[in-house]
Amino acid sequence: MRRTALLLAATLAAPVLAAPPKAPSAAAEAQVLELSKQAIALRSVQGEGNKTADVAKLYKSALLGAGWAEKDIEITPVDDTAYLVATWQGSDPKLKPLIISGHMDVVEANPKDWTRDPFTPVVENGYLYGRGASDQKFSMVLAMVGLMELRKGGYQPKRTIVIAFSGDEETTMKTSRILADRFPDADMVLNTDGSGGALDEATGKPLYWTWDGAEKTYVDVQLEVTNAGGHSSAPRAENAIAQLSQALAKIGAYRFKAEQNPLTKAYFEKAARFESDPKLAAAMRALPAM
Ligand SMILES: [Zn+2]
Repeated sequence: MRRTALLLAATLAAPVLAAPPKAPSAAAEAQVLELSKQAIALRSVQGEGNKTADVAKLYKSALLGAGWAEKDIEITPVDDTAYLVATWQGSDPKLKPLIISGHMDVVEANPKDWTRDPFTPVVENGYLYGRGASDQKFSMVLAMVGLMELRKGGYQPKRTIVIAFSGDEETTMKTSRILADRFPDADMVLNTDGSGGALDEATGKPLYWTWDGAEKTYVDVQLEVTNAGGHSSAPRAENAIAQLSQALAKIGAYRFKAEQNPLTKAYFEKAARFESDPKLAAAMRALPAM
């Protein structure tokens, strides 16, 4: 719940990066692909042989090569997994940090269910295949290499940027909770999980890429019914099982009211502006429902 609160508390601040986006270099694109493939090959699945810590080490060595110092990168083991925190110190210590969130673990994949081996990354016809190619090693690497490119290019952020990658998002979320507790005052969280983009169908050119400012989660509900009870020879209409079933039916029928927050508002306003560009408008409409 803390994590959700943290993420939902994120507000749209002024753009962190003032410079207009530049097209990535071929070297940066190659690094995204290479790092993604190396990460996919590491079976970061809960349980025996969990290689999440190795994914963290892989990312750490990439960050060290792009200007992060050893002292700025922590890999903390937790149970059979680990989480990664890499800090890029901002020039203004008064500003609250920007958190780049993501998860290094993946859901178990049984090779029998897959056309290709899930942990042997392969590129075919321009598509990367492997467990984590979508959820979410590629997208976290994309964000990380983006930051690495900025740093190598001499960019100095005003606010501290923290890469905070958890190691058990698909299972217990213990490391997510640790990270949420550690950064309760983030100015904004960009969640690389659930991110995605679209290519122009005619030209293959990238149209856009989105990151989340929050992540939908679920809620557990525990119902407990007590009443006077009775004897089965004289069943009462007011019995606990009937009451419980009525309550369950009510929960099933309940529909939450749609609510706006600064993030969803900005999203829909942006989408409205895209209406002037038919291709972008179509692409925005194709985004998954929120
Ligand atoms: Zn995910």
